[in-house]
Amino acid sequence: MFTVTSQGQNNGSKPRVVIIGGGFGGLALAKKLKNAPVDVLMLDRHNYHTFQPLLYQVAIGSIAADSIAFPIRRIFTKHNNFSFNMAEVQKINPENNTLTTSIGTIHYDYLVVATGSNTNFFGNKEIEHFAMPMKNIPEALNLRSLIVQNLETALVTADMREKFALMTFVVVGGGPTGVELSGALAEMRHLILGNDYHGLSKYDMRVYLVEGKDRLLAAMSPQASAKAKQFLTDGDVIIYNSAHVQSYDGFYLTIDNGKTIKTRNVLWAAGVKGEVPEGIPAEVIAKGNRIYVDEINRIKGYQNIFAIGDAAAMITNEFPNGHPGVAPAAIQQGEQLGKNLEHLLKGEPTEPFKYVDKGSLATIGRNQAVADLGKLHFQGFFAWLLWGFVHIMTLAGFSNKGIVFFSWAINYFTKNSDNRLVVRYFNIETRMADNESK
Ligand SMILES: Cc1cc2nc3c(=O)[nH]c(=O)nc-3n(C[C@H](O)[C@H](O)[C@H](O)COP(=O)(O)OP(=O)(O)OC[C@H]3O[C@@H](n4cnc5c(N)ncnc54)[C@H](O)[C@@H]3O)c2cc1C
Repeated sequence: MFTVTSQGQNNGSKPRVVIIGGGFGGLALAKKLKNAPVDVLMLDRHNYHTFQPLLYQVAIGSIAADSIAFPIRRIFTKHNNFSFNMAEVQKINPENNTLTTSIGTIHYDYLVVATGSNTNFFGNKEIEHFAMPMKNIPEALNLRSLIVQNLETALVTADMREKFALMTFVVVGGGPTGVELSGALAEMRHLILGNDYHGLSKYDMRVYLVEGKDRLLAAMSPQASAKAKQFLTDGDVIIYNSAHVQSYDGFYLTIDNGKTIKTRNVLWAAGVKGEVPEGIPAEVIAKGNRIYVDEINRIKGYQNIFAIGDAAAMITNEFPNGHPGVAPAAIQQGEQLGKNLEHLLKGEPTEPFKYVDKGSLATIGRNQAVADLGKLHFQGFFAWLLWGFVHIMTLAGFSNKGIVFFSWAINYFTKNSDNRLVVRYFNIETRMADNESK
């Protein structure tokens, strides 16, 4: 622990905007402020931006982890008013406009909380210990290790019940992440198991998807939900709708529909909650641990503190629970706040945020996706192509776009992939990844 004197005080004449978080919202805001008369300081616990929509492909070993990460500094090399520090923000101190961080105390004139969200286990500590979340790259790599380790162990396990448990995968949560993850596991079962793991039969591997609502992809159209269900069922995924996981002790998963599943792999995609640093008062915390903000993303009760993206709850008639926790909402809020900060600095009227819903896409697997674009709903090959195009185009970094595109092309034609590696052994008991190679 050391104190950063250069960041402690703002010695320049320009006001300092500190952005906590280099996710979709934080990046969009900093880009918008490129020519604004401010100094921008971004803080993030990682020195890279993560493209979360493709985390599941890292977890399943389809693409390399580095291809969905991009160094934050590299994005802003041409921004003269931008600086970055890799730091964990531990506390916001609004009383003296400072942050307590892992690298010391940092002063701000304007503060933007763009800290995103984290996995919600709804207070169940046992599930939290034994289930696998997937919100960042280290977690996706842990999941990749666990999946591959368990298949390796299944190959040499004589106890048939344990072998089946190692080959049973339960995905909890039927939103886009759960649907994409279970679709990818089903594809692995069909295309890869028999080729790479001689001795394991696809008939011994089971993929379950458990969803609390009565349909999958509840935020999408009923057509998209029905088609996603059909695609997954065709891929032999066993789907339980209107079902809630009650407990999981590392061996047995119990569901409130009366089923108990013996499994060593529980993949948790059942919900998120806002990631809010300490120092934000409880009275401005909304449902889902998001921070109440007004129509310009200003946190209620403060003049110079804002929140955007997954961490923010802007309650409107159209969005009584806040905007959806998706990248476009975070990006649009970041861009709009950039404009409004300039208005505030110039003493001009601000413009309220208005969300533009550009549609939703989810892929289930090879040649299969569902798309809702306004009143247009379509599924299958064209939806899949569109899904791929949109994801490549929104991925940060030219080299990443190329790497992911070529990985997908090679995977498509070989019906296999090269990234199912146990680079660091994951121990579910200690929840630690062992980095020391022997
Ligand atoms: C598996 C998965 C799949 C998804 N798929 C899609 C999809 O297909 N389409 C879509 O639109 N959305 C998708 N989303 C949602 C989308 O990724 C989020 O809505 C979006 O990332 C929110 O942006 P944000 O800027 O609010 O936060 P984030 O992008 O999460 O960024 C938050 C940043 O803050 C940093 N941070 C947090 N706390 C601290 C702290 N205390 N100190 C320092 N740094 C901190 C984090 O390291 C992170 O870099 C997906 C999410 C996940 C997890």
